Amino acid sequence: QEVHAAEMERTFIAIKPDGVQRGLIAEIISRFERKGFKLVAIKIVVPSKGFAQKHYHDLKERPFFNGLCDFLSSGPVVAMVWEGEGVIKYGRKLIGATDPQKSEPGTIRGDLAIVVGRNIIHGSDGPETAKDEIKLWFKPEELVSYSSNAEKWIY
Ligand code: ADP
Ligand code: MG
Repeated sequence: QEVHAAEMERTFIAIKPDGVQRGLIAEIISRFERKGFKLVAIKIVVPSKGFAQKHYHDLKERPFFNGLCDFLSSGPVVAMVWEGEGVIKYGRKLIGATDPQKSEPGTIRGDLAIVVGRNIIHGSDGPETAKDEIKLWFKPEELVSYSSNAEKWIY
């Protein structure tokens, strides 16, 4: 494998139940893929409410926490790990602002969602949360390191 592959930045991205039900899986994946980021883990799961509470533990004091956890556990979620230079921060840029009313056109939420409670996608907000969320959602052996021929044209 590449020397840099082991140290390449990774982020956790999830397509929430609304994105799955609306048929937006391919649309969302293609935006990350076309950018040049690399998919290193993917699965579809229905998280339990307890799992959703773990995922959103930072928000447990917020008034919307319970509804948010009910929603995340209400149906299938596509959980992914994406890899690439700057993927944590730029992934958030591809996603757009939390409230789709404030997300710019051209972003995933800006183009595809209308309200904050149904904003279709999650992305880690920093290196620490990325590490924690990847660990929560995936076993180490579910992460696949590989090199692709495209890399030498991307970097
Ligand atoms: P982000 O997903 O952009 O990182 P937060 O971490 O602040 O945003 O919030 C997590 C999720 O909680 C949001 O994506 C959204 O689905 C939900 N949420 C945030 N703020 C509100 C709100 N005011 N009312 C309802 N749901 C909210
Ligand atoms: Mg967040």
